[in-house]
Amino acid sequence: NTFAEIDLGELLDQNIRRCKYVKPTPVQRHAIPIVLGGRDLMACAQTGSGKTAAFCFPIISGIMREQYVQRPRVARTVYPLALILSPTRELSCQIHDEAKKFSYQTGVKVVVAYGGAPINQQLRELERGVDILVATPGRLVDLLERARVSLQMIRYLALDEADRMLDMGFEPQIRKIVEQMDMPNRGMRQTMLFSATFPREIQRLASDFLSDYIFLAV
Ligand code: AMP
Repeated sequence: NTFAEIDLGELLDQNIRRCKYVKPTPVQRHAIPIVLGGRDLMACAQTGSGKTAAFCFPIISGIMREQYVQRPRVARTVYPLALILSPTRELSCQIHDEAKKFSYQTGVKVVVAYGGAPINQQLRELERGVDILVATPGRLVDLLERARVSLQMIRYLALDEADRMLDMGFEPQIRKIVEQMDMPNRGMRQTMLFSATFPREIQRLASDFLSDYIFLAV
């Protein structure tokens, strides 16, 4: 069992080798082919399982093919193709660091936006262009309200540590965010929901946000 057997492309394979990942973890082995195959995914996965790479690899692989699609030109508004939502600044920064390593030399641009820090630096980063946006829900709602980010072009949505996001009270923000994605063209979006636990509230999110999804427990 190797990464080369999963068809991620040569550039991504090189970056995986550079990270010294030799073989996929169980969640990676199962999740990556499901997403590459075009399906939505609900995965029960703990911290340390390798879940970050499990959602980043298929997103980067897909975005490498799509990064040159025409995006609307509206002053100061950016149109990311993928969105990764996570509960905290620390986790968002960690995902951002990993996603940047994985997308080295692919041309895919990754930007992070989180609350509790001045917004101006983040706005300047966004203005330089963004394919994959990693964000905490509150800060993203702020960016949407300022019309600095549009979710019209989103192809991939990953919700990381969804149970923690709900525990922190982010459900209204998450619903607002996903609604904006659904307005113009729902069929375009592939969604991945990662959670350590699978209580009723998470099941409800899954049935509201995912379509015809595969459930994975590792
Ligand atoms: P995560 O569960 O995504 O937070 O990852 C836990 C840790 O495992 C991180 O430090 C990753 O860099 C590392 N990791 C993820 N996948 C692999 C892999 N296939 N081989 C070796 N290390 C990995």
